[in-house]
Amino acid sequence: MTTHSLLILPGDGIGPEVMTEVRKVIDWFQTNKGIQFDVSEDLVGGAAYDKHGVPLADETMAKAQEVDAVLLGAVGGPAYDNLDFSVKPERGLLRLRKEMDLFANLRPAQCFDALADFSSLKREIVAGLDILIVRELTSGVYFGEPRGIHSDDNNPQNEGGRVGINTQRYTSGEIRRVARAAFELAKKRGNRVCSMEKANVMESGILWREEVQWVHDNEYPEVELSHMYADNGAMQLVRRPNQFDVIVTDNLFGDILSDAAAMLTGSLGMLPSASLGAPMANGRPKAMYEPVHGSAPDIAGQGKANPIACILSFAMALRYSYDLGAEADLLEAAVEKVLADGVRTGDLMGPEGGTPVTTSQMGDKIVEALSAL
Ligand code: NAD
Repeated sequence: MTTHSLLILPGDGIGPEVMTEVRKVIDWFQTNKGIQFDVSEDLVGGAAYDKHGVPLADETMAKAQEVDAVLLGAVGGPAYDNLDFSVKPERGLLRLRKEMDLFANLRPAQCFDALADFSSLKREIVAGLDILIVRELTSGVYFGEPRGIHSDDNNPQNEGGRVGINTQRYTSGEIRRVARAAFELAKKRGNRVCSMEKANVMESGILWREEVQWVHDNEYPEVELSHMYADNGAMQLVRRPNQFDVIVTDNLFGDILSDAAAMLTGSLGMLPSASLGAPMANGRPKAMYEPVHGSAPDIAGQGKANPIACILSFAMALRYSYDLGAEADLLEAAVEKVLADGVRTGDLMGPEGGTPVTTSQMGDKIVEALSAL
């Protein structure tokens, strides 16, 4: 029987609290569905700094390279704010992303019916929303050279005398690999990809469009592909978000568009994410899953954290790292049922009320719903 390996890195603040609830879900699948998980746990972020003096120990990094999937809670907190930049908790996270070469960042924006009123848009615009933004994560303007702030002394017209430079740079290979990830994902969903860039004003955007089209024509002709300028994409996301299935875009546009799409669905406590790399020997991608939220020091240790973002991140691991799509659907349905029943952590409590629960009770309710479905 296949054993699915998982490295859990709870991290700091509410990270360990929400991870405890994921453990309940894992236990349920082991006991009730006979799925074997080989779960190990280690430190990241401030917790790793406290023990090892670094935010990610080399042994933990090595373990992350070996497992089928990594599930991370959150890192950071006020106790670590004044640390040297090189050992800040976030460096642990960045090291994982860099050394695992996780180039495709997946941010689903899914609107659960029971929470449609939490959206900043009208219910009829967001009801049933289910889109996936695939953002290129390891290249583009955040990494391109040359970069820096220089003096511009020879230019008397420049008041202030300085110039700031960043470079948008993409190779065709970088574009093709993230495009492939998007087409593969679309095949498991609505079979449609919309690619976004600014080919009207940027050469790198022209290359982006041509390479995405090349991957489509040569490898995925059966998937529907469209192209859109990213500024129009931003408008369409708030005008008629339901027109999209999978959106693929570069690092900078993806950063902005995925945050905008996230707010279509309401609370930060609901948002999962995945970062995928190249396929491993078993054909599945290297992968790390994590909720979008941070360590929430303001509510840590009080049983107030919503564990759903982390639980839905595990659902993504079921789907993309373990090829357990039906089990992922079941877990998402359990979350949907609990929300429809009016079960609410504090962040989900709206004017219509509901049954207030703690972090732990929310986990229990989701496990109960798994058994009931
Ligand atoms: P945050 O996401 O931790 O919190 C923002 C707000 O949302 C807070 O009011 C918090 O209570 C609330 N919130 C977040 N997650 C919640 C949940 N699951 N349930 C209920 N409420 C939730 O962002 P922040 O306050 O800007 O940052 C706090 C710390 O987290 C900082 O140290 C920051 O660097 C770090 N951070 C880490 C990550 C990560 O690990 N990926 C991401 C963002 C921020």
